[in-house]
Amino acid sequence: MYDIIIIGAGPAGLTAAIYARRAAKSTLVIEAKGFGGQIIKTPDIENYPVEQHISGLDFATKLYNQTVALGAEFIFEKATSIKDNGKTKTVVTPKSEYEAKAVIIATGSESRLLGVEGEAEFTGRGVSYCATCDGLFFRNKAVAVVGGGNTALEDALYMADIAEKVYLIHRRDEFRGEETTVSRLKERENVEIIYNSTVTKLIADKRLRGIEVTDKQGNTRELEIRGLFVAVGRIPENKNFGDIIELDASGYAVSSENCLTKTNGVFVAGDNRGKEVRQLVTATADGAVAATQAVRYISNLNI
Ligand code: NAP
Repeated sequence: MYDIIIIGAGPAGLTAAIYARRAAKSTLVIEAKGFGGQIIKTPDIENYPVEQHISGLDFATKLYNQTVALGAEFIFEKATSIKDNGKTKTVVTPKSEYEAKAVIIATGSESRLLGVEGEAEFTGRGVSYCATCDGLFFRNKAVAVVGGGNTALEDALYMADIAEKVYLIHRRDEFRGEETTVSRLKERENVEIIYNSTVTKLIADKRLRGIEVTDKQGNTRELEIRGLFVAVGRIPENKNFGDIIELDASGYAVSSENCLTKTNGVFVAGDNRGKEVRQLVTATADGAVAATQAVRYISNLNI
């Protein structure tokens, strides 16, 4: 039996593990994929205090190493449910069951699909959700990035250094992401911003050859591109926990400012939690808050 099980090894979960271990609690982190979460897809982090520039992968690696050095244990399995046994909780995976006094759900979010026909078929054959992972495949070729948030802006800037031409396609005439990044993009000669438009068709043979873009007036335009980077937001990964925590209409976990949920001993942290600001710094802050609350909860449990 562990004191605290943390589900998810992104910035929120790993920070929770640091705080749990520094409170001398036995800590197991259960992660379905690899450590780091979505931040490993970010090429350059410029808004985290102290570090002026750091890649998402370097950030996540440092954080993971710090957690391991403090003695957190890791298991790479997918948590499929949580059972509430009263004073303890059981986290179920396809391989086993793990018991703890408290559980922190820090599962983050997954990429939202664009919803255009052929998207799944051509994922890995021109369609990508990660510019830092796949960008180099498109060196000196034309690519498009879809979306208007920070991810799309940063992906477009990253691809501007690699690709011959970058089209940034946004469905409105105003970006959601940071103005400084928009200004930098506008200075790049090989970046063309296409406003008020959506991707309506993939043009492909064995792999992607182009896209059709349609504006709000219904005018269409074909772009010859080899890579399409989809950056249209995220979906919270809470679907396995809807019975133990309350979810809002968009699937985000309903919790208090202290990361408490409707179930005593179950806490949430990071991007899967309903909140206004989803940034790296707020994810790590959530991790600290959730772990501190879990430690407090355990000390009152008397088991
Ligand atoms: P986001 O901020 O939710 O933006 C998603 C974008 O996709 C929006 O511009 C949205 O358009 C557009 N969109 C949604 N569905 C679409 C569709 N079907 N077709 C076309 N466009 C569609 O998502 P994100 O950029 O992934 O960022 C997620 C969070 O992480 C944000 O809070 C962001 O600030 C944060 N983030 C931070 C950093 C950083 O701190 N360095 C880096 C990356 C991300 P509308 O604007 O019209 O809704």
